[in-house]
Amino acid sequence: MMKITKLVSNIVLGRGCIRELKAFAGELLPDRSGYDVFIVDSVHRNTGTWDQLTPDSGDLMMAVDVSAHEPKTEQVDELCGRIREEKGDALPRVVIGIGGGSAMDTAKAVSVMLTNPGSSADYQGWDRVKEKAVPKIAVPTLAGTGAEASRTAVLSGPVRKLGINSEQSMFNGVLMDPDLLESADPEQAFYTGMDGFIHAVEALNGSAINAMGRPFAEKSKEAIQRFFSGEGSAEELMVGSYLGGASIANSSVGVCHALSYGVSFYLGYRHGIANAIVFQRLEEFYGRDVEALRAMALRNGIELPQDVTAGVSSATLDKMAEMAYLLERDLISAMGEDYRRILPPERIVDLYRRM
Ligand code: NAD
Ligand code: ZN
Repeated sequence: MMKITKLVSNIVLGRGCIRELKAFAGELLPDRSGYDVFIVDSVHRNTGTWDQLTPDSGDLMMAVDVSAHEPKTEQVDELCGRIREEKGDALPRVVIGIGGGSAMDTAKAVSVMLTNPGSSADYQGWDRVKEKAVPKIAVPTLAGTGAEASRTAVLSGPVRKLGINSEQSMFNGVLMDPDLLESADPEQAFYTGMDGFIHAVEALNGSAINAMGRPFAEKSKEAIQRFFSGEGSAEELMVGSYLGGASIANSSVGVCHALSYGVSFYLGYRHGIANAIVFQRLEEFYGRDVEALRAMALRNGIELPQDVTAGVSSATLDKMAEMAYLLERDLISAMGEDYRRILPPERIVDLYRRM
């Protein structure tokens, strides 16, 4: 079947460009009027970023707290409820998501759910969205997830953690201002960056990648690695993150992401750090890239967590291993159809015990 690759094709890049946000929205959406919704990671009330936003009267400023957990479907539903309470049936001109992967994914999901009935949990999965979403703009304040460019909004729902994966989840534009990265905790910035590095490594080592995905993944990996080796600029890092997101629709993640789901779900680690915990133990799959990640950690003064599964029961480790098989598509890309024989549950548990 014909496959159409969509890219987020409107980009503003440069230090201080946050000041152009309203003008950017106007350029992108000349035919739309109405209020704007800002979905802002609440951390930015204290970083100075909030104060740089210039809402008009009538715009809605909504702070989302992502410090305790990554986004949930109920949070998205609640935000949409509040927008409807304030504005009735009037749709916004644009939804603007400002923050890391969590705030950007929340904004994506809100823009979809303002025009689609029911709960956001009904739309977790592939191409379930029917109605056209409200236009949206991403303003990343962490670089690595690629959420600003990908077609998925990752949410935890009542039954599963799974993205709303659809064309309607894609941003219409991205504004990349490297100044906004500066307030991030260096450890968090490192682990989010490593999420991007690992996406690229897994994409490049998987069979699912095609001629469209490969150059995006290669350049993403190069830019992220250069930055964390002290060579590249923050601008390049942001572009690297964007390119990683652009590669996802034409590739797949692999063993690390499959195993990291259990580490997040059962042991409570955030996405980026969970991936780094797992990746360290995957030398047999990703060889020299594991060395490269260790070298970047050392250079950036990051101590990768060790012994995180000490004291975790065998029963829990078994459940974590079962969870890994939910990412079947990614495991097939990494190892072929025979993945259960190559990586049986007891081998996954053995890897977990060494983390
Ligand atoms: P995050 O958005 O969860 O933020 C991590 C922490 O950093 C939070 O406490 C946040 O408040 C804080 N923070 C963010 N920017 C800051 C800044 N500039 N200054 C100070 N603090 C800041 O982290 P993330 O790693 O960017 O995103 C992780 C989420 O992205 C997960 O939910 C993951 O599943 C999702 N994800 C999505 C995609 C996609 O394609 N949609 C891809 C990979 C990961
Ligand atoms: Zn990831």
